[in-house]
Amino acid sequence: MQKPRIEAFLLYLAPNMKTRIYPTLLSLLICYGSFAQQADHKKKKKSDIPKYTIENWFNGKKSATCLTFDDWSSGHGPIVVNNLIERKCPATFFVTQNNNGLGGGYVQMQKAAQHGLEIGNHTLSHPDLTKLTSDDLKKEVSGTQASLSKETNSEVSTLAYPYGPYNDQVIEEVKKHHIAARGVIDINHFPYEFATSEQDYFKLNTVGVNEDFTSEKFGTIIRKANIEGGMLTLIFHSVYNDKVDDHSYAAITEQRLNQLLDTLDSYKKETWVTTMANAVKYHREAHCAKLKTITNNAMEWTLNLTDTLSNNKIYNQPLTINLKVPNGKKYIAISQRGEPLPFSFNDKKNLISFNVVPDGGIIRITKAREKGMKKK
Ligand SMILES: [Zn+2]
Repeated sequence: MQKPRIEAFLLYLAPNMKTRIYPTLLSLLICYGSFAQQADHKKKKKSDIPKYTIENWFNGKKSATCLTFDDWSSGHGPIVVNNLIERKCPATFFVTQNNNGLGGGYVQMQKAAQHGLEIGNHTLSHPDLTKLTSDDLKKEVSGTQASLSKETNSEVSTLAYPYGPYNDQVIEEVKKHHIAARGVIDINHFPYEFATSEQDYFKLNTVGVNEDFTSEKFGTIIRKANIEGGMLTLIFHSVYNDKVDDHSYAAITEQRLNQLLDTLDSYKKETWVTTMANAVKYHREAHCAKLKTITNNAMEWTLNLTDTLSNNKIYNQPLTINLKVPNGKKYIAISQRGEPLPFSFNDKKNLISFNVVPDGGIIRITKAREKGMKKK
């Protein structure tokens, strides 16, 4: 009914313009169509992004604490590795490869790596890296990274600068095969935003430990890191007991080591005790990861967590996600790439929390069957 009337009206207005007006109307219609489609697309895009937060540190801990042991001196294999394994306490050993004849050598390093302790690079011969030719720099940094990874059958991805100094040339070489590096400068502030560029992860600072470093002092520093929310890295050197002589540098007794580990145990609910590599991975991933909904229906919600870090073999540290869910819904399982994951549900805040790897595959959240829903 409508169409002939419009046609008649148009013909009445301009009988010989029919051929011109029709294309104009058509293009207006096309224009409106694509606009509507665009608006629809925008709306869809917006609902693709769920409400969520990524915790600053793993499992919502307030800070990260990394114990690092430098040089691989004679007490590291027999005393430190065994104590840490017994306590299930993660830590990083920065190994000077020429010391592989000490403290059980590669056998103890392999054992450490198998138990989740990190083997890091502290070069081949412990030189001041800023004083080397480029060939020697390559050998000490990249050469040792490759060789230590092979000998310890582990992923060597962090480095500690011998004596501490570095410059741009040194960082360029370290960056080729490492994700972070630590110096020896003592700090007493631990802000969460300790790295604002990739370069900053190669300038990490620390807190030095010697026999005067008491449990009280350690406790004060951990509490400070918890308040400021950053990464606390400690350097240990020699550790000795009645049987093992190790006095190369800043030596502490096995008893002192255990006192400090007891102190750390008492703060484990608040600080994430981890390796230097894992703390750096978490920090970098958390700064660029994004969660998106793929599908969401009555039975299942699928999502994808991606980050902008290209090396997914290295950047595989799970991130802790808090996902906002609709009121009253019940959830029975979460998995990533088919692997079931533990999760917690806060029904007061309507949040489910779980740990997933960025670029680690589809996340599936299975919903509980609701009353009145048809059984298959
Ligand atoms: Zn050293």
